[in-house]
Amino acid sequence: MQSTPARIACDEVGATIVLPGDENWDSARQAWNLAVDQRPAAVALVRSAKEAIEIVGFARRNGLRVATQCTGHGAAPMASLEHTILVKTSQMAGVQIEPGARRVRAQAGALWQDITKPAAEHGLAALAGSSPNVGVVGYSLGGGLSWMARRYGLAAESLLAAELVTANGDLIRAEHESTPDLFWALRGGGGSFGLVTAIELALFPVQRLYAGVLFWPMQRGSEILHAWREWVDTVPDTVTSLARLLRVPPLPDIPAQLRGRPFVVVEAACIGDESSGEDLLAPLRELGPEIDTFAMVSAPLLQTLHMDPEPPVPAIGDGMLLADLPAKAIEGLVAVAGPNSDSPLLSIELRHLGGQLGGETVIPSSMGSAAFGVYSVGMAMNDEMGAAIHRDLGLVRNALSPCDARYMFLNFADQPADTATLFSPATQRRLAEIKARYDPTDVFQANHEVAPALATNAA
Ligand SMILES: Cc1cc2nc3c(=O)[nH]c(=O)nc-3n(C[C@H](O)[C@H](O)[C@H](O)COP(=O)(O)OP(=O)(O)OC[C@H]3O[C@@H](n4cnc5c(N)ncnc54)[C@H](O)[C@@H]3O)c2cc1C
Repeated sequence: MQSTPARIACDEVGATIVLPGDENWDSARQAWNLAVDQRPAAVALVRSAKEAIEIVGFARRNGLRVATQCTGHGAAPMASLEHTILVKTSQMAGVQIEPGARRVRAQAGALWQDITKPAAEHGLAALAGSSPNVGVVGYSLGGGLSWMARRYGLAAESLLAAELVTANGDLIRAEHESTPDLFWALRGGGGSFGLVTAIELALFPVQRLYAGVLFWPMQRGSEILHAWREWVDTVPDTVTSLARLLRVPPLPDIPAQLRGRPFVVVEAACIGDESSGEDLLAPLRELGPEIDTFAMVSAPLLQTLHMDPEPPVPAIGDGMLLADLPAKAIEGLVAVAGPNSDSPLLSIELRHLGGQLGGETVIPSSMGSAAFGVYSVGMAMNDEMGAAIHRDLGLVRNALSPCDARYMFLNFADQPADTATLFSPATQRRLAEIKARYDPTDVFQANHEVAPALATNAA
């Protein structure tokens, strides 16, 4: 009985329910990522924890699953939603900052821009991602790699508490003291453990940083990537940086000096003052960038550094973690995606990890075993481009595979991936056991699903 129960939902729950055939069906089911065609059994637009509880109960009674989505930035890896209610949280986006305690409480629909600006008014910064309109909860449950990651670790480590509706319909508060296992799973294990209605995160006393972008023509790709690779070995953990091959699209609203041109780029954020930032950056500046935007900036401006698209786009991307980045790997990457290739990938980025991200970790993340992160992406304006992007994502992966750190970073895994490829066997086992305890019948469907241990054993 999985095709009609959503009809009944309109009377049984307070949330707005949108069904196939309704006038606003296409806009309700749409994800930020336009390359994704989501076809759930129903979409529920929730406004409160009470409505979230009702939807979970309704889904259970009717043999449906629940997938929670804030923006749909992470929608690409999601499996079929045919028997699932897609719960959208964007209408519950309240944010409360406690400056004295240096913490923020964000409801499930909050975006990073809802936190970074008000936090800055109190001289505080969050471990926000590169894009202002990514969801705070989805990003944090998946790890959360910020511009201050090498100094303060993953955003999931700054998680202080989460309020969530569990599979049996309880609204609980997960914290280290009261529910250590569940709290651990939520700090990087993704959205498999419940419908999170709000989270609390630590804030950091960072007001202004020395940050910006250096652009060179992509013809210098090999030289600049090698130089950046050597440079990162010399910098302290106050510096978080990436280098990338960037093909700026020829769009009218992009500044003329960038529009339609291929570049090799270094982006960095240095926690500290201007003069120490200038000293750190000097070796790269000696390479004569064509454009140099480095300056002291307020923390919210970090979200413009990476030039992420804010309106919805048809993105096809994927990532990997690297144990190292030797010269040979850089050469391999430049050969498949550099200036002499016809790569359809708009951006292939190499993120410097290490610092506080390195070593043993107290959360479910494979970041500790990696030295660099990779994320590549193209825009699929049609099927042909989509096929070409998939082909070239494979070329990048092959070129870098000798350095593969084995497990991936959940937030950068943008293709369907078994969570066994994200976490070590021990972490995967513990996540599956916790899933079995809190969601034994697998009600919650995440973009990267952890299956309950008992179901796995029985299979
Ligand atoms: C342009 C862009 C820039 C990005 N930049 C970064 C970056 O700098 N650093 C980084 O680490 N990642 C980055 N990401 C990846 C991003 O963090 C993930 O895609 C993340 O999942 C997005 O969260 P969302 O809520 O916006 O997306 P959604 O697609 O809405 O959610 C993704 C998943 O999160 C879970 N989830 C979301 N809300 C809830 C909830 N309330 N309860 C339970 N589970 C929930 C679900 O499993 C869901 O499938 C970026 C992605 C894009 C597209």
